[in-house]
Amino acid sequence: MNILIINAGSSSLKYQLIDMDTNQIAAKGTCERIGIGGFLTHTPKNGKPEFKGEMDFPTHVQAMEAVLDKLTSEEYGVISSMKEIDAVGHRVLHGGHKFSKSVLVDEKVKDAIRECIPLGPLHNPANLMGIEACEKAMPGVPQVAVFDTAFHQTMPEYAYMYAIPYKYYQEDHIRRYGFHGTSHRYVSGEALKLLGRVEGTKIITCHLGNGSSLAAVKDGKCVDTSMGLTPLEGVPMGTRCGSMDPAIVEFIANKEGLSASETLTMLNKKSGVAGVSGVSSDFRDLFAAADEGNHRAQLALDMFTYGVKKYIGAYIAAMGGVDCIVFTAGIGENNPKIREMCTRGLEWMGIEIDEEANNTRGTVDITGKNSKVKVFVIPTNEELAIALDTKEIVEAL
Ligand code: ADP
Repeated sequence: MNILIINAGSSSLKYQLIDMDTNQIAAKGTCERIGIGGFLTHTPKNGKPEFKGEMDFPTHVQAMEAVLDKLTSEEYGVISSMKEIDAVGHRVLHGGHKFSKSVLVDEKVKDAIRECIPLGPLHNPANLMGIEACEKAMPGVPQVAVFDTAFHQTMPEYAYMYAIPYKYYQEDHIRRYGFHGTSHRYVSGEALKLLGRVEGTKIITCHLGNGSSLAAVKDGKCVDTSMGLTPLEGVPMGTRCGSMDPAIVEFIANKEGLSASETLTMLNKKSGVAGVSGVSSDFRDLFAAADEGNHRAQLALDMFTYGVKKYIGAYIAAMGGVDCIVFTAGIGENNPKIREMCTRGLEWMGIEIDEEANNTRGTVDITGKNSKVKVFVIPTNEELAIALDTKEIVEAL
């Protein structure tokens, strides 16, 4: 069985074709500049050459057609015809309160994704375009929507509500939804396998990438997460501010003569560790600058790791303990120093990491000798998680 995974943005479309017999990637690539030209990068994993080149992508439909053309082509292909694609799994950002798991796409599901556009104004329209482009380019092939918010739908009411007038929840569905749900679900699931049990487990998953979020997972279910109505809340991130006093929005808007939405763009795109350091949103650059004595780069690293540590403490309180902490995503998987900084000072809580194990790569148990709490590094694989959901849903048809 082959499943095509689609992650559609407003002007881009990323794809992976996954062979479900081996769970390996058969080919992957990206369509960029959709609507303003077009550029395709296609990488087959069967030894055939990579394709990179300009194309004409007026809409997502032409981009999808180009992807299918490359996947089945003599020169760059990995399958002989489109018939070998059994299903498509779509990453969808916002499922609101309507979706607590992945679903087969039909007209009702598309309507519900459309209704969630006010909650995910940048991503949901693009995700819908991706779905509709696949419907046009490969009619009859089952499609599944996998939501970034779904895993967090098990949060209790007191964890997802904001302390603002209740009518905003009733009328506008303003509440915490959380994101990176597919990643938190995947890595907490892998951690449960390593722990060998589900009942009674308390796991904190730290997805630390360009966007970062933490989740508290009790008995395999999410009970709290750091991102909110939008991905802006939580720890400081590459370019997002994370949690802060909301009064700052008005102050900056007044000072700079910006609208609320312009101010939020600044808080999403020019803040976080990039804004504080003035160096970069990339943690490799921050460490390099800090090593050369750049105070603001060091400050940004300290703010980030302090923020993660505070959420770890909060979630231990929320769950009444912790059995296991998981680090994942670009920074969490690749940076031993960040993992060390995020756990330093938690020894009194029984959390320690092993220095040697912490310097190895891949899925690794980095639990310290005297640690009561397990600490794991587990590489996330959102595409595989989407593919596995898609396979399960399609096989049950
Ligand atoms: P996204 O949220 O875009 O999916 P990723 O999970 O791919 O992000 O994480 C990207 C970030 O990971 C980069 O901004 C970079 O800071 C960080 N990163 C990747 N490799 C390393 C590394 N070896 N050391 C430190 N940071 C790294």
